[in-house]
Amino acid sequence: MKKKLIIIANWKMNPPTVLEAKKLFSAICRSARRLRKINVVVCPPSLFLGNVRNSAMSQCALGAQDVSVKSSPSGVGAYTGEVSSAMLASLGVRYVLVGHSERRTLGETDAMVSQKIHAVIRDGLTPVLCVGEAVRDKEGEYLHFLRKEINDSLGSVKKRDISKIIMAYEPIWAVGKNAERADTPDELFEMTILIRKIIGESYGRSIAMALPILYGGSVDENNAEAFLLRGGIQGFLVGRASINPDIFGHILKKAESVKSSEH
Ligand code: PEP
Repeated sequence: MKKKLIIIANWKMNPPTVLEAKKLFSAICRSARRLRKINVVVCPPSLFLGNVRNSAMSQCALGAQDVSVKSSPSGVGAYTGEVSSAMLASLGVRYVLVGHSERRTLGETDAMVSQKIHAVIRDGLTPVLCVGEAVRDKEGEYLHFLRKEINDSLGSVKKRDISKIIMAYEPIWAVGKNAERADTPDELFEMTILIRKIIGESYGRSIAMALPILYGGSVDENNAEAFLLRGGIQGFLVGRASINPDIFGHILKKAESVKSSEH
């Protein structure tokens, strides 16, 4: 049986109130209700995770936008303001974004990302490793950047654990309200080939070919279909469009109606 697509809603620091978060979550879960080919994951701000979970329907899985680098096996410690992977797991969270470019801008390093992946896997959750270059220069430096970012972020992840990871390719120039544009499906396809090559070099071809790769960066209801048909991806990480339940609902509908790409 073909694997389901994965579409993740990253709400970032939205919406402003818990009431709005519950409404948005319910609206997204309603859109997800009849989907057969898609696993929908919603990542609200961690403060709202418990509240939306209580209004949860089984159609949506919960994800977190980040996790503490200090996540210890006990899940506790003297780290003011931090949230451990064990705490997320206890709330029913199943996925965790790790290494999002907006976290990396705030100082997160590849070494920290690697530690987070390790903790997330240890606590039985699925890390969604976000990678992507800031600029696509003509000289092709971005290809070297991506190789290093992937290898360093995976750090000491063992072969037996690599199949527990989802990769999200998010070129930074395509992400968020200052984005230049979205990527193109054909360029994205080339990047997925490169990512599988990089993973294959360390972990072997069959693992690389089975790795789910999501695309993120200005995904909307108009470009979703082409990315799924030609981009070589297995789903999306959606930012801005995921806080508009109508647009996100259209993206889900478009994705449900296309054949998922084989790889
Ligand atoms: C993101 O923040 O992960 C993202 C892809 O943002 P946007 O869809 O708004 O470009």
